[in-house]
Amino acid sequence: MRIFVTDLDHTLVNHKIEGKDEALEKLNLELSKRRNKGETKIVYSTGRSLTLYKQLAAEKELLNPDALITSVGTEIYFDSSYETPDPEWSDILKRGWNRDDVAEIINKNFAEEIVTGKLKFQPKSEQGLFKVSCFLKEETAERLLPKLNDLLENKNIKFKLIYSGSKDLDVLPENADKGSAVKYLQEKWNISADEKTVVCGDSGNDISLFSLGGERVRGIIVGNALPELREWYNNNKSDYIYYAKSSCAEGILEGLTHHLNLKLT
Ligand SMILES: [Mg+2]
Repeated sequence: MRIFVTDLDHTLVNHKIEGKDEALEKLNLELSKRRNKGETKIVYSTGRSLTLYKQLAAEKELLNPDALITSVGTEIYFDSSYETPDPEWSDILKRGWNRDDVAEIINKNFAEEIVTGKLKFQPKSEQGLFKVSCFLKEETAERLLPKLNDLLENKNIKFKLIYSGSKDLDVLPENADKGSAVKYLQEKWNISADEKTVVCGDSGNDISLFSLGGERVRGIIVGNALPELREWYNNNKSDYIYYAKSSCAEGILEGLTHHLNLKLT
């Protein structure tokens, strides 16, 4: 049994293609076949909230994954009704985390930035029990982030700050990321050998997937990967990470051929 993990936007899903995505269909078929034979579990791992995942699933041909990791690793769903995130994973994230304290610290200390629109909480759909998300202007970030970091530390909160795309600020529990969520799945499903896990991604928040556990996880970086991941790859080259020439699903198929000697017809 293997675990196949993929990011969605610009990794599995090619937003440049409108209508039929042949590579995605081919990959879906191949994965479904392997799942039906009991050879693989399928995991989608996305920065999207559950709300935004459902939007994507309504637009594109996605499979029902065996596990869905949303909001950059802060929620895991096993059941396709997507009603409640896995409580065991929530218990792990809970340690040292207090969402209300984080929100209060931001509100209290950055009132001026909020009033002037330099810092703004993201819509409710993007907030979670384990995720406080804001829009933060780049020119303010340099000054604000170290201060926020100190304030959270002084309150003894176990957290991490992720500022990405020069606009999105996420405050998350210390051990919340895509990689830790997959590690949790490996243990839960008892498929802990890293060489049995294949991970696919295109951007900075996928790095935790490629570097999870040992270095034997089979990685596929799609050809259209962003500079931040390309740079990481150049500094962390390994026999187990395949940099595809093709983009998105086609790149994943290329990588699977490389890793699993999958015969493509
Ligand atoms: Mg992506």
